[in-house]
Amino acid sequence: MSLVESVLSRLRPEVRSLHPYLLKPRAASVKLDQNENTADLPEPIQRAIQDSLSRLSLNRYPPTVASELKQALGRQNDWPEEGVLVGNGSNELLQMLALSTLESGRKVVLPTPTFVVYSYVSRIAGAELIEVPLGEDHSYDVGAFLEVMSREQPSLVFLCSPNNPTGSTVSTEEVERVAENCRGMLVVDEAYFEFGGSVSREILPRYPQLVVSRTFSKGMGLAGLRIGYMLAHPEIATELTKAQMPFSLNSFSRAAALAVCEHYPLVRAQAERIVRERDALLERLRELPGIRPYPSQANFILFDCQAGSSRVFEGLLARGVLVRDVSAHPRLSQSLRVTVGRPEENEMFLRALRETLEELP
Ligand code: PMP
Repeated sequence: MSLVESVLSRLRPEVRSLHPYLLKPRAASVKLDQNENTADLPEPIQRAIQDSLSRLSLNRYPPTVASELKQALGRQNDWPEEGVLVGNGSNELLQMLALSTLESGRKVVLPTPTFVVYSYVSRIAGAELIEVPLGEDHSYDVGAFLEVMSREQPSLVFLCSPNNPTGSTVSTEEVERVAENCRGMLVVDEAYFEFGGSVSREILPRYPQLVVSRTFSKGMGLAGLRIGYMLAHPEIATELTKAQMPFSLNSFSRAAALAVCEHYPLVRAQAERIVRERDALLERLRELPGIRPYPSQANFILFDCQAGSSRVFEGLLARGVLVRDVSAHPRLSQSLRVTVGRPEENEMFLRALRETLEELP
């Protein structure tokens, strides 16, 4: 055995069996593939960020606890700051949660299809994944969730609402039914919360196993700065934080996140404009023959293409429009996902889609 082989054999099989999370870089003038906020940050927020960045002492570590940001998020969500967790993107917080709850021999229950990071963090933690398929129209089957949970007794359950990439939602009553029957931790990922509201915040006080996960990457417009937050019961939050590296949220990101929180109404007004654009885009997609869009409460829309997803994806790309091809998942073999763009970007996407469909047999 060569030395490299010997070293590789010491790496954990759970890690080796993963495919790296990579997006092939593609040049496109209209980039609608990552569910980012496609609007510019409002001017007052840009100015506030620049002001606060110029005052940072970059030679110093940030404080160990991001108190100001946690206070701001606590006020925004009417939740005690001791129960607010902040991290380097919600991805990092999801991993913290997985590392705190999972190990080899423990189980995690999650929908399929869903956001791929749940399976990454769970597999890295060594847990067994139990996937609950969404229904034919991608709707959540809460009955099936409850059945699987009662049989498998998972340590961690993921719900994502709106679900990426399908847009499927659960109601507060459904979250409550799952929480009532959950002995382990239950994460409700509300990454797209600004575009459709919360399904879990209202019942959070009643369920210590419940954690609400949010991000600054979508409605809050700061994907490049990698900031996520969670709301949890303070006693649980105190334990979870121990599995997080100190200073994972850097000084730049803390300052920018605070500036966004201080101007939160501007962000919400922007999200409302995106919601209006989304609803208009959905109507227009419904009119196109051979296209079946699914309802959405997020800033993206999943749609099936009768002509075949790869051919439509390539046709769009040839016209400068990049969307996400999600068809690798067996339940999404005809599907693409498009992020809601600026009005002119949405027009370009629709024009490119119409031209592509006309061209295909
Ligand atoms: N949750 C969901 C449902 C997402 O779609 C995404 C990003 N695509 C994330 C979490 C990751 O967010 P962040 O940028 O905060 O890591």
